[in-house]
Amino acid sequence: MLADTTLPLKKGATNLVFGDGSSDADILFIGEGPGYWEDVKAVPFVGNAGAFLNQLLASVNIKREDVFITNVVHHRPPENRDPEPEELSAYGKYLDKIIEIINPKVIVTLGRFSMAKFIPNVMISGIHGKEREVEINGRRVLVFPMYHPAAALRNGSVRTQSMIDFKKLPVILDEVRKSEADERQESEADKKVEQMNLI
Ligand code: URA
Repeated sequence: MLADTTLPLKKGATNLVFGDGSSDADILFIGEGPGYWEDVKAVPFVGNAGAFLNQLLASVNIKREDVFITNVVHHRPPENRDPEPEELSAYGKYLDKIIEIINPKVIVTLGRFSMAKFIPNVMISGIHGKEREVEINGRRVLVFPMYHPAAALRNGSVRTQSMIDFKKLPVILDEVRKSEADERQESEADKKVEQMNLI
């Protein structure tokens, strides 16, 4: 990715902002694109929006180093403008690779651009805080759409709503872990029955 000179936002950016966190994470956060400080430090969500995201994580006792955080575009758009469709598509292949490597149980989309990748043609105001199952690479993953943390900093009611939505995250994660453990147990039990039938 570092060597890809075709990436459309590369020329105006200081650094590639690939992602931050654990490659073993159960939760993957996907934001919009690096801002000023992210471009300087090559780490996503380290400015004001990042401080609020850190606060949300702390409010539910999730450590930032236990999740993975990335964006839909990995170079800073000029003047922090919205990413354009051809940029979303150029960086999209790398984002897909990140999703494949992390293989998360839950994807939290931060803002409308990352939401639209998984849940197109909806308004964030209508579906934030409501998880839905999406098939990615033949695997069911829960997508949990949230407002962008920067929007929460601009608007008090979005901020309150984000804090309410975030409280659901550990509950959803527990449910996914439990249902995966149940599925594993069932398939172990099925295998045992098959083995017994062979005897
Ligand atoms: N906003 C984003 O969407 N991503 C960042 O990394 C920082 C701010």
